[in-house]
Amino acid sequence: MTMINAYAGDPTPLSEAERALIARRERLLGPAYRLFYRNPVHLVRGEGVWLYDPEGRPYLDAYNNVASVGHCHPHVVEALARQAAVLNTHTRYLNEVVLQYAERLLAKFPPELSRVLFTCTGSEANDLAVRIAKAFTGGTGLIVTENAYHGGTDVVAGLSPSLGPAVPLGEHVRTVPAPDPRTPRGEIGARFASGVRAAIADLMRHGIKPAGLIVDTVFSSDGVFPDPAGFLAPAVEAIRAAGGLFIADEVQAGFGRTGEAMWGFERHGVLPDMVTLGKPMGAGHPIAGLVVRPEVGEAFGRTSRYFNTFGGNPVSCAVGAAVLDVMEGESLRASTREVGLYFKSGLQRLANVHAAIGDVRGVGLYLGVEFLVDERADLAETYAADVVNALRDRRILVSATGPKGNVLKIRPPLVFGKEHVDLFIDALDEVLEDIGKGAGQ
Ligand code: PMP
Repeated sequence: MTMINAYAGDPTPLSEAERALIARRERLLGPAYRLFYRNPVHLVRGEGVWLYDPEGRPYLDAYNNVASVGHCHPHVVEALARQAAVLNTHTRYLNEVVLQYAERLLAKFPPELSRVLFTCTGSEANDLAVRIAKAFTGGTGLIVTENAYHGGTDVVAGLSPSLGPAVPLGEHVRTVPAPDPRTPRGEIGARFASGVRAAIADLMRHGIKPAGLIVDTVFSSDGVFPDPAGFLAPAVEAIRAAGGLFIADEVQAGFGRTGEAMWGFERHGVLPDMVTLGKPMGAGHPIAGLVVRPEVGEAFGRTSRYFNTFGGNPVSCAVGAAVLDVMEGESLRASTREVGLYFKSGLQRLANVHAAIGDVRGVGLYLGVEFLVDERADLAETYAADVVNALRDRRILVSATGPKGNVLKIRPPLVFGKEHVDLFIDALDEVLEDIGKGAGQ
């Protein structure tokens, strides 16, 4: 999350116009912003799984999970424009649109999770989840994985070790190792739970009462660890036994991304106390939220009011509903499952012929390809960066993830078809052939 796949400032491959854009950006936006790729990509238009540069050249998007139903889906665009032309206010007036969307969204959850609060970003949703968890449990201790990312407010940046050592963790935050794929499958759940129990014990030893365990249910910034389905259950039991809540961060895994379920937590057979949503919820429009069990939200709701000026506005809710229309109308969950399996088997085929691929993981259209060069993740980071940039030069967009940045992160819009997978696999095959083992060293 810190510097993975960031443009490092070498202007060599850039045109004069691109250099000027970068200089303007730096002057106006300052140093906190990062561009992707050694040769940054300039985009002006999107459609389906394709993005286009000013010259009209197409880029295959295998990275942007936000535009889950495809870039600029006409049904979503139309819903946005229609509601924008009628009314856009906030949640302090009576209005049907927010309630209709809330009903449709909540119908996608187990019946216990029957209330929703709307925000604009995943960070706000996680921030609110922390406030509610503290109010409900009376505790302040929070547990996250070692390379988690949960957002950018002060509190959730403190829950995001992937931001790097310069961004301090919250004082009452403890980290646990993400599941290690080299652990025998049958032991992954028990090991993850024992990490959580150790973190709980450490909190207690410091006089800190646990408030909750929060995990991204596909562990995307930790390196993509969705399997085996079910492994989260013992950790959820452990946090509950200590009086804390389980918060499922579905910003990455939610809205059908795994193909196997609407929400990542469902694959694990667990029932969260709270679920946070974002990114694909509005297919690019900023809508996010928090789904909560009523009894959990009660204490907070009684004592603190919640108002988010833009969260839950009618335009955002119309967009959210249109995204659900497309997911249902185009059977995106079923196709995600099928195309995801096809994609994964293509990657596994490449793993059999390219020694640098150490592991292929993933579910649905959330896939990770871990590189190992001479069994060393540190060398593999440069290797992964070379692969990401070589794919970019072939106009295929992906990025990398994991604490060492050595895992290709593949998560295209869910309208990705088998024909797009074929393009990707052929290009990756050629790139790995070209780079060869060790070329990144
Ligand atoms: N949680 C997870 C798992 C995320 O990946 C992100 C964004 N990368 C967030 C929360 C924060 O979402 P936002 O950028 O909308 O604030």
